[in-house]
Amino acid sequence: MADEPKETLNPFEVAQRQIDRVGKRLKLDPGVLEILKHPKRELTVNFPVRMDDGSIRVYTGYRVQYNDALGPFKGGIRYHWNVSLDEVRALSCWMTWKCSVMGIPYGGAKGGVICNPKTMSKGENERMTRRYASAISIIIGPEKDIPAPDVYTDGQTMAWIMDTISMQMGYAVPGVVTGKPIAIGGSLGRDEATSRGLMYATREAASRLGVKLRGATVAVQGYGNVGHHYARLMAAEQGSKIVAVSDSTGGIYSPDGFDPVKVLAFKEKTGSVQGYPGTKKITNEALLELDVGILAPCALENQITSANAGRIKAKIVAEGANGPTTPEADDILYKRGVTVLPDILANGGGVTVSYFEWVQNLQEFFWTKEEVDSKLEFHMVKAFKSVWETHAKEKIDMRQAAYMVAIARVVEAYKVRGIYP
Ligand code: GLU
Repeated sequence: MADEPKETLNPFEVAQRQIDRVGKRLKLDPGVLEILKHPKRELTVNFPVRMDDGSIRVYTGYRVQYNDALGPFKGGIRYHWNVSLDEVRALSCWMTWKCSVMGIPYGGAKGGVICNPKTMSKGENERMTRRYASAISIIIGPEKDIPAPDVYTDGQTMAWIMDTISMQMGYAVPGVVTGKPIAIGGSLGRDEATSRGLMYATREAASRLGVKLRGATVAVQGYGNVGHHYARLMAAEQGSKIVAVSDSTGGIYSPDGFDPVKVLAFKEKTGSVQGYPGTKKITNEALLELDVGILAPCALENQITSANAGRIKAKIVAEGANGPTTPEADDILYKRGVTVLPDILANGGGVTVSYFEWVQNLQEFFWTKEEVDSKLEFHMVKAFKSVWETHAKEKIDMRQAAYMVAIARVVEAYKVRGIYP
């Protein structure tokens, strides 16, 4: 848009810009727009951790509670050396729209700790996690704010947080986090939920666009929890051909395709996907520009920008990551006829099954994997349909359509709740 400032890679500025765009379309009251552009509460914690060599290190962490008009705050915790307050703000903002567009009764939040989990021992990671959990315990809880895994955190991280909060309270509090191991109240299907939801979103888009998934070529950037399950499910359940995947060390490519499960085993053994037999090495950047049917960015923010959007060849971009595409890149892709399935919709299966896990914890009665999967499919298909219809009716890209649906619901909640006092 001509009246917008130059492309920014500051994730919170990106998030605010996305709100502005849709605010105009929805003709929102400027005061309401201002509320939507700011987080409700931000907590910064600096806390000491004793390292294995006896030294003390001070870590900085955040928990940002963006908006709770629709229900308790919800969102993951990220461990990464590039975590910043603005990144956590953006991620908490995106969680708000994600929960809204998925139709689940949560607001949005996010947490992060600036650290390098790759260089930490398990003991150091556990002590850091427990101390961070204790530091943010003043604002989290099953009725207030429910964390979950994100980049470089997992079920074990959630188990330590659940245990720390339970020790503070004096009784077991399973509902304080989701994405827990099954042994302590996790939900069947939560592990693969983000990817299964992403697969359903891809399937819904493909059928509307006339793209055949059987035999379609797929490139996946990022081989963490989201990327590897997505590659596996697309191959196993849709018959697609996985031709490229990557992790933080680089990527692999083979036009004939390969078995994504064997690649995961190889990565677990060697620490990288690169070197997998029968594939050639490619960079993370080159992977994005491959001539494939489906491109799934499943790593970090700002991967598709105005610098490379003109060279993306995929028909469908399925955003497993949060914030992989900038607003400027969105415009370029839309004009070129590339369908972007926006993060807040496409990867909403994770938080949806987190919601199911929390419901099962509160009712203390658990569902089968089949029940979880079919409820997830129902939610994904329903959310996809409302976004698709808005995109077709308003003649806008899927991201703006998803924001329109999500923001309208949050604004409606504000209207009926009113502003206190
Ligand atoms: N971190 C995931 C996300 O970005 C899951 C959040 C959750 O389950 O609360 O959607």
